[in-house]
Amino acid sequence: MKRTQMFVLLAVCFLCAAGGQLVNGQELLNQGRYVLLIHGGAGTILREKMSPAKEKNYRLALEKALKAGYTAIKSGRPAPEAVQAAIRVLEDDSLFNAGRGAVFTHDGKNELDASIMDGKTGKAGAVAGVTVIKNPIDAAKAVMERSEHVMMAGRGAELFARECGLTIVDPRYFYTEERWQGLQRAIREDARKSKPDHSYQGTGYPDYKLGTVGAVALDQEGNLAAGTSTGGMTNKKFGRIGDSPVIGAGTYAKNQTAAVSCTGWGEYFIRSVAAYDLSALMEYQNMPVAAAGEAVMKKIGALGGDGGLIALDQNGNAAMPFNTAGMYRAAITNDGKTEIYIYKD
Ligand code: ASP
Repeated sequence: MKRTQMFVLLAVCFLCAAGGQLVNGQELLNQGRYVLLIHGGAGTILREKMSPAKEKNYRLALEKALKAGYTAIKSGRPAPEAVQAAIRVLEDDSLFNAGRGAVFTHDGKNELDASIMDGKTGKAGAVAGVTVIKNPIDAAKAVMERSEHVMMAGRGAELFARECGLTIVDPRYFYTEERWQGLQRAIREDARKSKPDHSYQGTGYPDYKLGTVGAVALDQEGNLAAGTSTGGMTNKKFGRIGDSPVIGAGTYAKNQTAAVSCTGWGEYFIRSVAAYDLSALMEYQNMPVAAAGEAVMKKIGALGGDGGLIALDQNGNAAMPFNTAGMYRAAITNDGKTEIYIYKD
């Protein structure tokens, strides 16, 4: 091979390795390296049902969360902190099914789940079914960093959060009228079905599980982290816990493969061990992150499940596949370019 040919080949290889590739249809806009991706849930999000004002609010919220995480990355903070910063913004925003604005259980309560994983150390933390912790992602991070455990549930998790000095609120803090009305609709829908005890799995009411939030980050030292936070599914019963706080299902991070946060019909993501499956496909089959993401969503779809995920590798390659009508999702590159998407096209 001539020296000039060799040079061109090397240059192409270098560009391929350095350029982030956000895969989902035409989403190949920026050629920079992605450092943070976020999602605000997948589901029946249709352009014709969205008012311009509502769409603007979603975009502003996603942008605010991106900026919070990006600021942490740019100030040299570790990836889990960037994940936490982005998720906190979304938890505080009542547009999303996490923190304030979470969906209601059948009994009219808000029971929140969250998890976080550090791709460098392999450490993880999660809380499930908590009702008074203002920011469940803070509690998940505290479990990871300040306890010898990985997952805490209910009262115990709340006691731990109090002892850690996290903000505790009255459960009414999480209430929004829109989610309350969503529960009433879901209860009416379920009354019409033959198997009401399985009703939280139904798709009769479009917003039944919309708005879970998640973030995956790549810090300046090249370390990855992932986190997810949710109120779960509207009308959930019997202490139901979804995939979001389950490490390997809704959240997973490993420096050598990817950071992953999932959203959608949690039972399917648990049964598929979805987030870990993506990592395993990269580790054992050398799949690029985008191909692994597509493969995982294909398997979920084949089982009858729906939803989406965000995934980021150490080179800043990103994937945001989903098999629902839409998914609130956004990304920011190392040089601060943002991309925000809601619908399929
Ligand atoms: N995966 C969540 C759950 O099943 C819901 C969602 O992502 O919308 O609890």
